[in-house]
Amino acid sequence: MCGISGIAGLSNISRVLTDSIRQLEYRGYDSCGIAVINEDGKIEVKKNIGAVDHVSTQEDFASLKGTVGIAHTRWATHGEVTRENTHPHTCCKSEFTLVHNGIISNYNQLKEMLTAKGHKFISQTDTEAIVHLVEEEYKKTKDAEKAFTNALQKVDGTFAVVMLTVHEPDKIFCAKNESPLILGIGDESNYIGSDFNAFINHTKNAVILDDWEYAIVTNDRYTIKHISSAEVIEKEITKIT
Ligand code: GLU
Repeated sequence: MCGISGIAGLSNISRVLTDSIRQLEYRGYDSCGIAVINEDGKIEVKKNIGAVDHVSTQEDFASLKGTVGIAHTRWATHGEVTRENTHPHTCCKSEFTLVHNGIISNYNQLKEMLTAKGHKFISQTDTEAIVHLVEEEYKKTKDAEKAFTNALQKVDGTFAVVMLTVHEPDKIFCAKNESPLILGIGDESNYIGSDFNAFINHTKNAVILDDWEYAIVTNDRYTIKHISSAEVIEKEITKIT
Protein backbone atom coordinates (compact mmCIF):
# COMPACT_ATOMS: atom_id res chain seq x y z
CA MET A 1 0.00 0.00 0.00
CA CYS A 2 1.11 3.58 -0.47
CA GLY A 3 -0.28 7.07 -0.89
CA ILE A 4 -0.68 8.90 -4.18
CA SER A 5 -1.58 12.50 -4.87
CA GLY A 6 -1.84 14.75 -7.93
CA ILE A 7 -2.91 18.37 -8.35
CA ALA A 8 -3.59 20.55 -11.39
CA GLY A 9 -4.18 24.26 -11.01
CA LEU A 10 -2.70 25.58 -7.79
CA SER A 11 0.23 27.98 -7.58
CA ASN A 12 1.51 26.83 -4.16
CA ILE A 13 1.56 23.27 -5.41
CA SER A 14 4.55 21.86 -3.50
CA ARG A 15 3.09 22.89 -0.13
CA VAL A 16 -0.33 21.44 -0.94
CA LEU A 17 1.18 18.21 -2.30
CA THR A 18 3.30 17.87 0.83
CA ASP A 19 0.23 18.34 3.06
CA SER A 20 -1.65 15.86 0.91
CA ILE A 21 0.86 13.00 1.24
CA ARG A 22 1.22 13.74 4.96
CA GLN A 23 -2.52 12.94 5.19
CA LEU A 24 -1.82 9.65 3.38
CA GLU A 25 1.15 8.55 5.49
CA TYR A 26 -0.94 5.94 7.30
CA ARG A 27 -0.88 4.02 3.97
CA GLY A 28 2.93 3.68 4.07
CA TYR A 29 5.84 5.97 4.75
CA ASP A 30 9.29 4.48 4.16
CA SER A 31 10.14 7.18 1.61
CA CYS A 32 8.41 9.93 -0.33
CA GLY A 33 8.78 12.33 -3.20
CA ILE A 34 7.15 14.91 -5.42
CA ALA A 35 7.46 15.98 -9.06
CA VAL A 36 6.22 19.09 -10.85
CA ILE A 37 6.34 20.52 -14.33
CA ASN A 38 8.38 23.62 -13.58
CA GLU A 39 8.17 27.11 -15.08
CA ASP A 40 10.50 26.06 -17.93
CA GLY A 41 8.18 23.18 -18.82
CA LYS A 42 10.64 20.59 -17.46
CA ILE A 43 10.11 17.77 -14.98
CA GLU A 44 11.66 18.45 -11.58
CA VAL A 45 11.72 15.75 -8.88
CA LYS A 46 12.65 15.79 -5.19
CA LYS A 47 12.58 12.58 -3.14
CA ASN A 48 14.32 10.61 -0.42
CA ILE A 49 13.88 8.03 2.31
CA GLY A 50 12.03 8.91 5.52
CA ALA A 51 8.73 10.38 6.61
CA VAL A 52 7.11 13.34 4.83
CA ASP A 53 8.05 16.00 7.41
CA HIS A 54 11.69 14.90 7.41
CA VAL A 55 12.11 14.56 3.63
CA SER A 56 10.18 17.70 2.72
CA THR A 57 12.50 19.78 4.92
CA GLN A 58 15.71 18.00 3.95
CA GLU A 59 14.99 18.12 0.19
CA ASP A 60 13.26 21.51 0.30
CA PHE A 61 10.04 20.41 -1.43
CA ALA A 62 8.78 24.00 -1.06
CA SER A 63 11.33 25.20 -3.62
CA LEU A 64 9.53 23.30 -6.40
CA LYS A 65 7.40 25.70 -8.42
CA GLY A 66 4.72 24.80 -10.95
CA THR A 67 0.97 24.42 -11.29
CA VAL A 68 0.82 20.70 -12.06
CA GLY A 69 2.37 18.08 -9.78
CA ILE A 70 2.29 14.58 -8.32
CA ALA A 71 3.44 13.06 -5.03
CA HIS A 72 3.90 9.65 -3.39
CA THR A 73 4.56 8.14 -0.03
CA ARG A 74 5.96 4.64 -0.53
CA TRP A 75 5.59 1.31 1.18
CA ALA A 76 8.18 -0.79 -0.68
CA THR A 77 7.23 -4.07 -2.31
CA HIS A 78 10.04 -4.38 -4.91
CA GLY A 79 13.49 -3.06 -4.07
CA GLU A 80 15.00 -1.80 -0.83
CA VAL A 81 14.15 1.48 0.83
CA THR A 82 16.63 3.70 -1.03
CA ARG A 83 16.49 7.09 -2.72
CA GLU A 84 16.76 5.44 -6.17
CA ASN A 85 13.72 3.27 -5.42
CA THR A 86 11.63 6.18 -4.12
CA HIS A 87 8.85 7.45 -6.40
CA PRO A 88 8.38 9.43 -8.66
CA HIS A 89 10.27 7.44 -11.31
CA THR A 90 11.40 9.17 -14.49
CA CYS A 91 12.24 7.82 -17.97
CA CYS A 92 15.63 8.12 -19.71
CA LYS A 93 14.99 11.49 -21.39
CA SER A 94 13.04 13.00 -18.46
CA GLU A 95 9.94 13.36 -20.60
CA PHE A 96 7.64 11.30 -18.35
CA THR A 97 7.54 10.82 -14.59
CA LEU A 98 5.08 8.79 -12.53
CA VAL A 99 4.05 7.41 -9.16
CA HIS A 100 2.51 3.99 -8.65
CA ASN A 101 0.66 1.98 -6.05
CA GLY A 102 0.55 -1.76 -6.67
CA ILE A 103 2.66 -4.57 -8.09
CA ILE A 104 3.67 -5.12 -11.72
CA SER A 105 4.01 -8.89 -12.01
CA ASN A 106 5.66 -8.98 -15.47
CA TYR A 107 8.20 -6.24 -14.70
CA ASN A 108 11.18 -8.60 -15.18
CA GLN A 109 10.18 -9.43 -18.76
CA LEU A 110 9.39 -5.75 -19.46
CA LYS A 111 12.72 -4.65 -17.98
CA GLU A 112 14.61 -7.18 -20.11
CA MET A 113 12.80 -6.08 -23.27
CA LEU A 114 13.30 -2.36 -22.53
CA THR A 115 16.95 -2.78 -21.51
CA ALA A 116 17.56 -4.55 -24.85
CA LYS A 117 16.11 -1.44 -26.55
CA GLY A 118 18.60 0.76 -24.71
CA HIS A 119 16.64 1.95 -21.65
CA LYS A 120 18.74 2.50 -18.52
CA PHE A 121 17.07 1.49 -15.26
CA ILE A 122 18.24 3.17 -12.07
CA SER A 123 15.99 1.52 -9.50
CA GLN A 124 15.13 -2.03 -8.48
CA THR A 125 11.39 -1.29 -8.48
CA ASP A 126 8.70 -2.88 -10.60
CA THR A 127 7.30 0.64 -11.13
CA GLU A 128 10.22 1.90 -13.21
CA ALA A 129 9.27 -0.53 -16.02
CA ILE A 130 6.01 1.43 -16.56
CA VAL A 131 7.67 4.78 -17.18
CA HIS A 132 10.23 3.38 -19.65
CA LEU A 133 7.41 1.50 -21.39
CA VAL A 134 5.46 4.77 -21.80
CA GLU A 135 8.61 6.40 -23.20
CA GLU A 136 9.05 3.52 -25.65
CA GLU A 137 5.41 3.71 -26.76
CA TYR A 138 5.74 7.49 -27.22
CA LYS A 139 8.55 6.90 -29.74
CA LYS A 140 6.01 5.01 -31.88
CA THR A 141 2.85 7.07 -31.32
CA LYS A 142 4.13 10.61 -30.64
CA ASP A 143 0.97 10.88 -28.54
CA ALA A 144 1.22 10.93 -24.73
CA GLU A 145 -2.30 9.62 -24.11
CA LYS A 146 -1.85 6.70 -26.52
CA ALA A 147 1.59 5.95 -25.12
CA PHE A 148 0.10 5.85 -21.60
CA THR A 149 -2.77 3.48 -22.47
CA ASN A 150 -0.64 1.29 -24.77
CA ALA A 151 1.86 0.86 -21.94
CA LEU A 152 -0.85 0.00 -19.40
CA GLN A 153 -2.22 -2.66 -21.71
CA LYS A 154 1.20 -4.35 -21.69
CA VAL A 155 1.46 -4.36 -17.93
CA ASP A 156 0.25 -7.29 -15.80
CA GLY A 157 -0.62 -6.74 -12.17
CA THR A 158 -2.20 -4.09 -10.00
CA PHE A 159 -1.80 -0.37 -10.35
CA ALA A 160 -2.91 3.10 -9.52
CA VAL A 161 -0.62 5.29 -11.65
CA VAL A 162 -0.38 9.07 -11.87
CA MET A 163 1.86 10.57 -14.56
CA LEU A 164 3.19 13.93 -15.76
CA THR A 165 4.75 14.58 -19.15
CA VAL A 166 6.59 17.51 -20.70
CA HIS A 167 4.65 16.85 -23.93
CA GLU A 168 1.33 17.88 -22.31
CA PRO A 169 2.52 20.07 -19.45
CA ASP A 170 -0.93 21.14 -18.21
CA LYS A 171 -2.29 17.60 -17.90
CA ILE A 172 -2.12 14.76 -15.39
CA PHE A 173 -2.73 11.25 -16.68
CA CYS A 174 -3.93 8.66 -14.19
CA ALA A 175 -5.33 5.13 -14.29
CA LYS A 176 -6.24 2.26 -12.05
CA ASN A 177 -6.56 -1.49 -11.86
CA GLU A 178 -7.19 -3.07 -8.45
CA SER A 179 -5.58 -0.22 -6.51
CA PRO A 180 -7.75 2.71 -5.40
CA LEU A 181 -7.80 6.07 -7.22
CA ILE A 182 -10.20 8.97 -6.81
CA LEU A 183 -10.55 12.36 -8.50
CA GLY A 184 -11.33 15.49 -6.47
CA ILE A 185 -13.19 18.15 -8.45
CA GLY A 186 -12.47 21.72 -7.34
CA ASP A 187 -13.43 25.16 -8.69
CA GLU A 188 -10.22 26.19 -10.37
CA SER A 189 -8.16 23.13 -9.52
CA ASN A 190 -8.57 19.37 -9.70
CA TYR A 191 -7.08 16.62 -7.55
CA ILE A 192 -6.16 12.95 -7.65
CA GLY A 193 -5.67 10.75 -4.60
CA SER A 194 -5.52 7.21 -3.27
CA ASP A 195 -8.42 8.24 -1.07
CA PHE A 196 -10.41 11.30 0.04
CA ASN A 197 -7.77 12.28 2.60
CA ALA A 198 -5.53 13.40 -0.25
CA PHE A 199 -7.75 16.40 -1.08
CA ILE A 200 -10.48 16.68 1.58
CA ASN A 201 -9.17 20.10 2.69
CA HIS A 202 -9.76 21.47 -0.84
CA THR A 203 -12.91 19.86 -2.21
CA LYS A 204 -15.70 17.53 -1.13
CA ASN A 205 -16.67 16.62 -4.71
CA ALA A 206 -15.18 13.30 -5.78
CA VAL A 207 -15.35 10.93 -8.73
CA ILE A 208 -14.43 7.35 -7.98
CA LEU A 209 -12.55 5.58 -10.76
CA ASP A 210 -13.28 1.93 -11.47
CA ASP A 211 -10.82 -0.68 -12.63
CA TRP A 212 -9.44 -0.29 -16.12
CA GLU A 213 -10.41 3.38 -16.32
CA TYR A 214 -8.07 6.30 -16.90
CA ALA A 215 -8.49 10.04 -16.59
CA ILE A 216 -6.89 13.12 -18.09
CA VAL A 217 -7.05 15.95 -15.59
CA THR A 218 -6.30 19.67 -15.97
CA ASN A 219 -7.09 22.64 -13.71
CA ASP A 220 -10.56 23.14 -15.20
CA ARG A 221 -11.67 19.80 -16.68
CA TYR A 222 -11.35 16.06 -16.52
CA THR A 223 -12.18 13.26 -18.95
CA ILE A 224 -12.55 9.64 -17.97
CA LYS A 225 -12.09 6.86 -20.52
CA HIS A 226 -11.74 3.11 -20.73
CA ILE A 227 -8.11 1.96 -21.01
CA SER A 228 -8.61 -0.56 -23.82
CA SER A 229 -11.40 1.07 -25.86
CA ALA A 230 -10.68 4.79 -25.14
CA GLU A 231 -14.47 5.15 -24.89
CA VAL A 232 -15.48 8.20 -22.81
CA ILE A 233 -17.20 7.31 -19.53
CA GLU A 234 -19.60 9.71 -17.76
CA LYS A 235 -19.50 9.34 -13.99
CA GLU A 236 -21.44 10.88 -11.17
CA ILE A 237 -19.87 13.25 -8.67
CA THR A 238 -20.01 11.88 -5.12
CA LYS A 239 -20.31 14.40 -2.25
CA ILE A 240 -17.99 13.46 0.60
CA THR A 241 -19.94 13.93 3.82
N1 GLU B 1 5.67 -1.74 -6.10
C1 GLU B 1 6.05 -0.37 -5.94
C2 GLU B 1 7.35 -0.22 -5.17
O1 GLU B 1 7.80 -1.11 -4.52
C3 GLU B 1 4.95 0.45 -5.27
C4 GLU B 1 4.82 0.11 -3.82
C5 GLU B 1 3.69 0.89 -3.18
O2 GLU B 1 2.53 0.60 -3.52
O3 GLU B 1 4.02 1.75 -2.36
O4 GLU B 1 7.93 0.83 -5.24
